[in-house]
Amino acid sequence: MTESAPVPSAAAAPSLVARCWGTRGSIPSPGPLTARYGGNTPCLEVRAGGHHLVFDAGTGIRALGEKLVSEPSRGPLVVFLTHFHWDHIQGFPFFRPLYDPEACIEILGPTQMGVDVQTLFAGQMGPIYFPIPFEALAATKQFEHLDEDTWERDGVRVRAMRVRHPSYTLGYRVEAGGRALVFVPDNELVGGDYEELGEGFADRLADFAAGADVLIHDSMFTEAEYAAHQGWGHSTFDQALALAHAADVGTLLFYHHAPQRTDDQLDAIVAEMRARADALGFAGRVAAAAEGADLVIPEARP
Ligand SMILES: [Zn+2]
Ligand SMILES: [Zn+2]
Repeated sequence: MTESAPVPSAAAAPSLVARCWGTRGSIPSPGPLTARYGGNTPCLEVRAGGHHLVFDAGTGIRALGEKLVSEPSRGPLVVFLTHFHWDHIQGFPFFRPLYDPEACIEILGPTQMGVDVQTLFAGQMGPIYFPIPFEALAATKQFEHLDEDTWERDGVRVRAMRVRHPSYTLGYRVEAGGRALVFVPDNELVGGDYEELGEGFADRLADFAAGADVLIHDSMFTEAEYAAHQGWGHSTFDQALALAHAADVGTLLFYHHAPQRTDDQLDAIVAEMRARADALGFAGRVAAAAEGADLVIPEARP
């Protein structure tokens, strides 16, 4: 896998191409101190086997939408939501393909407390919160509930697993052409009280992420910060590294950066975590997810 490489032509398209359009957790954090890793909230674009998948609709989805409407031809879009906390849906009403009567968009996510996915989005665009009514979204839209299910089409498979986070929250595994990318933006690996998930969560998640080429995982806190944030639904850098090691992934990308974390601080943390990875014997690559960098995952395993 290489970063910041140009997206290859269709003829040489790899099985998976991904790009983070938002890497920040909780609230957008623009400004010179976050310009390199990005200030937009979660949004991940994945192109797999001709399918165009989007994960989460944080503020990063706005710029993705601008790019998509400028493309001469585009196929159906599928948007997967991990959950409905603000930082993961805030960009939804600004996603331009939704206003295009020619666009066809499938939107999947977990029902929340008995409220279906369409109603959740319509509520977000209610007149108290937003000036343009939900009915103005002219695209052909199909809203569907997705639990711990599998979505599959033409050899592209997306599996969902419930993770440890306040509200019903999913992590996703995308597989195509023998390659896999795992996206778990919000997840408290250790600590907190998530009895409803039952026993054996750590093993189930390690199985879910096993052998992935790329694991993009919540790493909001340092160990020192976590002490005051137990139960808030997020993990530490060390915990994410331990998962990457247990799952034997190719690359770990820290994600859901804390709003106050500067680029320079992230650089220092990554350097420290690479030393820990070496000490652990983790052979994979360790980096922090950056907005705008393409992750090109090669065609086939040797
Ligand atoms: Zn979040
Ligand atoms: Zn959340």
